[in-house]
Amino acid sequence: KVRVRFAPSPTGGLHLGGVRTVLFNYLFAKQHNGDFVLRIEDTDQTRYVPGAEEYIMECLKWCGLNADESPLVGGPYAPYRQSERKPIYREYAEQLVKAGYAYYAFDTPEELEEMRTRLKTEENPSPQYNHAARAQMKNSISLSEAETAALLKNGTRHVIRIKMPDNEEVSFTDLIRGHVQFNTSTVDDKVLLKADGMPTYHLAVVVDDYLMKITHAFRGEEWLPSAPVHLLLWKYLGWEADMPQWAHLPLILKPDGNGKLSKRDGDRLGFPVYAMNWTDPKTGDLTKGFRENGFLPEAFVNMLAMLGWNDGSGQEIFSMDELIARFSLDRVSKSGAKFDYEKAKWFNHQYLLNADNNKLATLFEPVLKEKGITAAPEYVATIAGLVKDRCDFVNDIWNHGFFFFQAPETWDVTAVKPKWNADKTQFFMDWASVLETLSDFSLASVEESFKTLATSMNIKVGELQLPFRIMLTGGKFGPPVFNIAETLGKHETIQRIMNGLK
Ligand code: GLU
Repeated sequence: KVRVRFAPSPTGGLHLGGVRTVLFNYLFAKQHNGDFVLRIEDTDQTRYVPGAEEYIMECLKWCGLNADESPLVGGPYAPYRQSERKPIYREYAEQLVKAGYAYYAFDTPEELEEMRTRLKTEENPSPQYNHAARAQMKNSISLSEAETAALLKNGTRHVIRIKMPDNEEVSFTDLIRGHVQFNTSTVDDKVLLKADGMPTYHLAVVVDDYLMKITHAFRGEEWLPSAPVHLLLWKYLGWEADMPQWAHLPLILKPDGNGKLSKRDGDRLGFPVYAMNWTDPKTGDLTKGFRENGFLPEAFVNMLAMLGWNDGSGQEIFSMDELIARFSLDRVSKSGAKFDYEKAKWFNHQYLLNADNNKLATLFEPVLKEKGITAAPEYVATIAGLVKDRCDFVNDIWNHGFFFFQAPETWDVTAVKPKWNADKTQFFMDWASVLETLSDFSLASVEESFKTLATSMNIKVGELQLPFRIMLTGGKFGPPVFNIAETLGKHETIQRIMNGLK
């Protein structure tokens, strides 16, 4: 059975790239009737940020990408928070030491620092604890068995490090990138188990992917350099046959394609990069989210799916069910995907156009409330329907339809003034009386009476429509003017005509 996992570290808010990783996991799982696991990788206590885990959960919920197993809903492989699994990992680290694939290292922070200074050269500005350095350090490889045993016996603080082989080629087949190869000499002896008994990410991710029977692991390309460590761990722990298939997803790039998209690009260029608002608890800095910026979750998800994937047909709008049906890893691009905020807005616009007007009315309700306006939901829904083709966001309904909720107080008359005359005044006076008598104030009858009177008074309809629009809305643009009149209703329409004539 297909089992995938999203394994975030709760170190901050979820960036676009993170949510896209969730999405690809989710689509793949659903397509194969598999399970989608959410596992919180919180073993690095120094980077733990309060609130981040809740944020991640809330974000998945907003996007409709709920996990089948998670700290929240539990599951057969619980717990799903690595800090709660702490006792599990030591055994595997010890197993690696016994087999000669890992070793105890007793170096103090001062000794590590001393090594870095001593080995530092121009060609090697940041020396690593690796196959070359390990012989000169204090560990179970350089020390005798008896010395090591003694140190362990007095409870000397120690870590367990992987013993990276010198100059070996390791390779695997990535589902997106194909054959990927590394030379082990380029990788340092990563710590697997820390002095406090917590595993590092490298050990925990392998142990948990194994224990949780993960079959496919999707993650950002930034994790590719860690792959050789993980590969060797799978091998050394004797689990090679169960290793998940890896897929390293392309980076999300700045709009100009120049480098990886970062939070700073969003701040600078004025677009969100987080799914939802994220306030850094350390600095109090707010980074704006797609949700708060007025994106519909369906549009956001659709937009994300197209960042690095397409089905080859040119289609851009996909429902979740279509995405699940059509998603395929062989159409995920190897190169980075440019994030274009204008395109993101376009997606939202498309979803607004197709959204149910009652739903839009509900979403718009808070905006009205904030302005102290109360209006019947059906009325708001009609307005949403009339103006949504001009809106990118729900909030834009106000900019394009405020006059439905309040009579204009200023009128953009520059275009009509030069051509204004007594006949036109007479027309509107007479027409207002005609409107009074209309029993059916529908678009058709309003328009009909307008044209009939204009014709009988020998005034061009075209010359009266703009003034009428300005009387109703104050401005020159908006939905068809007779729709506006019909929506405002008889009383309000007549009132605005009379007001406009003053
Ligand atoms: N905990 C890692 C992260 O924060 C997970 C990487 C992986 O999926 O292996 O992204």
